[in-house]
Amino acid sequence: MLITVSLLLVTTAMSAVMLLVLTSLADSRVAGIREWAQANGVAVLALLLFAARGLIPDLLSIELANALLLLTASLMLAGYRRYLGLPVPWRLLAGGAGAAFAGVVFFHYVHESLALRVVGMSAFHAAICFGIHASLPKVADGRLRYPNAFSRTAALLLGLGHSCRGAFYVFDTYEPTSLLEPAVANLAFFAIGTLAMPALSLGAVMLANARVLTETAYAAEHDHLTGAPSRRAFFDMAERELARARRHGNGLGLLLVDADHFKRINDTYGHGVGDEVLRDLVARAREEIRKIDYFARLGGEEFGVLLPDASFDTTRAVAERLRAALDQSAQGRTAAAGPAYTVSIGLAMLEKGEDFAALMRRADAALYAAKAGGRNRVEVAPRLTPEPAPRSGGARVIRLRS
Ligand code: GH3
Ligand code: MG
Ligand code: MG
Repeated sequence: MLITVSLLLVTTAMSAVMLLVLTSLADSRVAGIREWAQANGVAVLALLLFAARGLIPDLLSIELANALLLLTASLMLAGYRRYLGLPVPWRLLAGGAGAAFAGVVFFHYVHESLALRVVGMSAFHAAICFGIHASLPKVADGRLRYPNAFSRTAALLLGLGHSCRGAFYVFDTYEPTSLLEPAVANLAFFAIGTLAMPALSLGAVMLANARVLTETAYAAEHDHLTGAPSRRAFFDMAERELARARRHGNGLGLLLVDADHFKRINDTYGHGVGDEVLRDLVARAREEIRKIDYFARLGGEEFGVLLPDASFDTTRAVAERLRAALDQSAQGRTAAAGPAYTVSIGLAMLEKGEDFAALMRRADAALYAAKAGGRNRVEVAPRLTPEPAPRSGGARVIRLRS
């Protein structure tokens, strides 16, 4: 008796801690947190009522305590379903909990049997745990892999534990000469019953935390307006690609893309329409570049494209294709498609020994030349070191423009 009461009080404390942890995550606005926190709040009350058995009326320590425990389990499943963006089967939950509760009342007042009360409660808890297990997807990698695997496994094991618990009490009722040692088995099953909610809450906290981290990382690496990778992500990627290009001796192309007379668009149509143009530009650009190219918003109406493993000819072809796709000048454009716009592009190829800042400066100078040359065009940055002169005949050609 003392052991079970201690276990109940320890679990109560664990549920209270989980409640505090989940409350601290409430600001994150992760779906499901509210239900998980409510589940633990209700669990604290239920467990205290169970622990007070004998000290308070049975109506409180049996009926109310069990009703609250059924609510806890339902809220736990609801939290997981909401977290996963799945519908919550409230009617099914209410029906199941109602049936389990009717069993508790029946086997208390009509046909007194602790064992059969446990059977009904275990069946409901097992269904909840299997429901959580089935709702959680298998995640192969990334930050969500471990929390998912933990919650899936915990839910499965607890579902099996509850099933065994229910089966044991059915068996125990009709076969009093059980081979199992009741005291030990009782305690083991009791532990499964009480530890289920804290274990599922731990999984929930891990999942919520992983989602917050994932969303924060995503926000830092993406532009809020267009969804394109951010300047920071672009420079991180550039350093990696630069190192790779040096290691393998591959070409690395860089394009700087800037919307032409964008201030005019804002001034004429308003900032909101300007924002729409930027979104349209990003969507079209994504269609044009190669799968391995990396497109990002560097700031304002300026974008960057990294072209790994690309020769000069490939880079220039991509740049020209991009310029043409983003040539949304008035011809052939309906008013409904939004204001006309064009872009200018500066192109530079990485040279031996050059760092990324120097490559950016050359691409920027080429972009400046494209603007000065009339806009809606691609301009190629001059090479850093002149090409060696041909040994015999023929003029040396340095291509300055596309
Ligand atoms: P140029 O052809 O020489 O590039 O001229 P421009 O008008 O595009 O260049 P300028 O640098 O003078 O103006 C850029 C404008 O882009 C000014 C700024 O208000 C606008 N802009 C920057 N970021 C945003 C944004 O997120 N949304 C909108 N709507 N406008 C933006
Ligand atoms: Mg501009
Ligand atoms: Mg600009």
